[in-house]
Amino acid sequence: MANPEMKFRPEREVPQHTDEPLSRDRILNLSPQETVNYLGSLEETGDLESFLEDAAEDEALKAHLSYWEKWLEKDQQALLEKIIDRKKEIYPLKSESLPLELEKKFTEKQLEMIFSNVKAIQLTFGCSKGCAFCGFDAIKGVREHIPYSQLANMFQRYGKELSKGEPFLYWASEPSDYASKEGLEDRTYEDVHELAVQYAGYDPGVTSFNLTDKKWIDFMARKTSAYRTGRRLSVFGMKEEKLQALQHRVRESEEEIKFSGKKAQRVSLFGKEYKHVKGMGKTFEEEEDVEDVPKAGIACVDGVLLTPRGLFNLFVIPISREYPQGVIITPLEKISDDPVKSGDELREVMRRSVVEGEYSHAGAISKGEEFQRYFGRFPKKAKVSTAQQRYSVSVDKYGYVLECKLIESDGENLTTVEK
Ligand code: SF4
Repeated sequence: MANPEMKFRPEREVPQHTDEPLSRDRILNLSPQETVNYLGSLEETGDLESFLEDAAEDEALKAHLSYWEKWLEKDQQALLEKIIDRKKEIYPLKSESLPLELEKKFTEKQLEMIFSNVKAIQLTFGCSKGCAFCGFDAIKGVREHIPYSQLANMFQRYGKELSKGEPFLYWASEPSDYASKEGLEDRTYEDVHELAVQYAGYDPGVTSFNLTDKKWIDFMARKTSAYRTGRRLSVFGMKEEKLQALQHRVRESEEEIKFSGKKAQRVSLFGKEYKHVKGMGKTFEEEEDVEDVPKAGIACVDGVLLTPRGLFNLFVIPISREYPQGVIITPLEKISDDPVKSGDELREVMRRSVVEGEYSHAGAISKGEEFQRYFGRFPKKAKVSTAQQRYSVSVDKYGYVLECKLIESDGENLTTVEK
């Protein structure tokens, strides 16, 4: 049995600049700043373009580089986008596939496991708003979306599984950015929302920063199913006068909906008592004093994230240089038989197994924990599934597995056995 008091040192060997290229395994373990440094060193030796050409064809590397794109230098961002765009023309997306053509990579059983644990779906990569202190490092401007036909295939085939995690339909993105335009098959966010209602039997919660579009506010204020849901407009740091004007717009929409004989849905103005804080995500590096860095990011779920650029596992953890968004986020490359052991770094385990979907902040705010300070209790429990086994793990605040127990499944009854 692992000693629960056992402490793992958070320090690790940081890759130094070297003329030798790093292995893809090593690159996938780089923190965002280390990734930037590494790309910088490739630029100096004239190897960046050929590296990005290869990386854009490697699903995990493409996912990793895209996720941290806001951290890259402007010329590096432009080059990465140019290369990814060109590859898209060579390998066009297929409307009959699942998002990311996941069916080519995973077995039916593995797909069921993945979709049962999806907690968030990023419909669009990049965000029209481009807030300076975005805690998720959304890059300004929408660059890519998951085709509606692929989302429809996913919800139609895996609605039962998706109903378990009830994923919200945004992550580092503004939901209303999924709007009718070329390439979107004339669909909008509302159409995707409807897929979740119809095939997965839940009404996704929505938090939006689109505060001006009347059509969007009408949607937010309209009841879209008999299921319970939450609709929030994000108003971080908004002045009283603007708040009142927005409240007025929301009420107007509610009245119009009721007048037309439809049911209205309450829209809450979320975050007026807070402001966007510096120190999460990319702005972590700008803080001189570690005391100025918030303890927690805004991620609140463990589990699987699907984006137009990759499939990831998520695990909420305190903010650090290694994990500046307060979440371990790692491309989910495969689901293997490799066992999970105490002493493993969770980030590596997350590349080959599925983190089970959980809301990681359950009860936190109602227990008086301050929003943006709560990251959960550590060591923290999670469940992780490999191809054949299911484990209960206890993870320290640096992301190392302290204890690991194999969960034996006996029908509905789960018993834990020490590993
Ligand atoms: S609207 Fe949200 S996701 Fe978009 S940049 Fe602002 S904080 Fe980030």
